[in-house]
Amino acid sequence: MRTAYKCRAYPTSEQAAVLTRTFGCVRLVWNKTLDERTRRYRNENTSTSYRDTSATLTRWRRGEELAFLSEVSCVPLQQTLRHQHTAFQNFFSGRARHPRFKSRMSRQTAHYTRSAFRMRDGSLTLAKTSTPLRFTWSFDDVDVQELDPTTVTISREPDGRWYVSFAVDVADALPQPAGHAIGVDLGLKDFLVTSDGVRIVNPGHLARKARNLARYQRRLARCHRGSSNRHKAKAKVARAHRKVRNARQDFLHRTSTVLVRSADVIAIEDLNVAGMVRNRNLARAISDAGWGEFRRQLEYKCERAGRTLVVIDRWYPSSKTCSTCGHLFAALKLSTRHWTCPGCRTRHDRDVNAAKNILAAGRAVARGNSGDACGADVRRQGATLPQSAVKQEARAVRLGS
Ligand SMILES: [Zn+2]
Repeated sequence: MRTAYKCRAYPTSEQAAVLTRTFGCVRLVWNKTLDERTRRYRNENTSTSYRDTSATLTRWRRGEELAFLSEVSCVPLQQTLRHQHTAFQNFFSGRARHPRFKSRMSRQTAHYTRSAFRMRDGSLTLAKTSTPLRFTWSFDDVDVQELDPTTVTISREPDGRWYVSFAVDVADALPQPAGHAIGVDLGLKDFLVTSDGVRIVNPGHLARKARNLARYQRRLARCHRGSSNRHKAKAKVARAHRKVRNARQDFLHRTSTVLVRSADVIAIEDLNVAGMVRNRNLARAISDAGWGEFRRQLEYKCERAGRTLVVIDRWYPSSKTCSTCGHLFAALKLSTRHWTCPGCRTRHDRDVNAAKNILAAGRAVARGNSGDACGADVRRQGATLPQSAVKQEARAVRLGS
């Protein structure tokens, strides 16, 4: 199994020059390949394979016009072709948007595989550089001297900070003895509520940082193109972006780690994040909530810890079904936070009840049958009864497209 460690890097001016040139070449190869690929598809209606793009790259490096491409390590250039190939596969299968051109102003990256770096006793030397790259190691539980990465990624953020990310293969964790299963209801008001009644709210500082970012963006929009004020405003926007991103990542990592530690079976709903973000009113709040990233973290952390993550159908009416007796209370309004089941008189907290239902559905899926405790068909019920405004929007988007 794979995991990665990312830390700040401090290249010397000589190293920075080599890396900046490498970034430029990576960007050029990505954009030129993307352009040719698109043109070929439009004019000749033929798709381009990875092998085609790789052969073209070799031709460019040998030719006169792009000979400077051979001044940098070939590995990051090859890797960017691989990534573009994967990006197209994801696009064609509907998992992702069409790959876009890379901009000089955005985050820059270069991926090095084993043949293009040397890692010895915690010291990293990249191809085409003569001295080790300085970086800060902040993972106390991992000995950097023993680190044997398969891939090293160097990146530079728009605000000028450098990072190095080490991808390593680690031994699969042994499954813990069976203990605890939880259902998790993700929401906008609270970030999540579990079937145990644990409520994790969205941190307020995240909203504050997002407001700061919006303010700097408005300021930037008022600056004249090419002015030095614009340049300064741009740096401030990049810095505010970084703060929002880091704060959100930190929150998501803490939350996903707590969940993975607390249970060995975790059930969540399959929220169609891509579909929901297309709806512009909700887009902001949802991308801020970071559900897609949260699920990605849960997936790899569960795998790493030997836990089971069950993703249940997104149209299951988890809020409106009584988790005690299975009564379907169709009249439940979004604004109602607590309700009493007409069937068994149980008093419910809306979100905790939803989480309990998600857990029950997750257990059913884990057992390999799609019916819930009452024998009802989860999918069919869910398709007619969306459970909240957010999910209703998502359904409208899906039906409309
Ligand atoms: Zn009931």
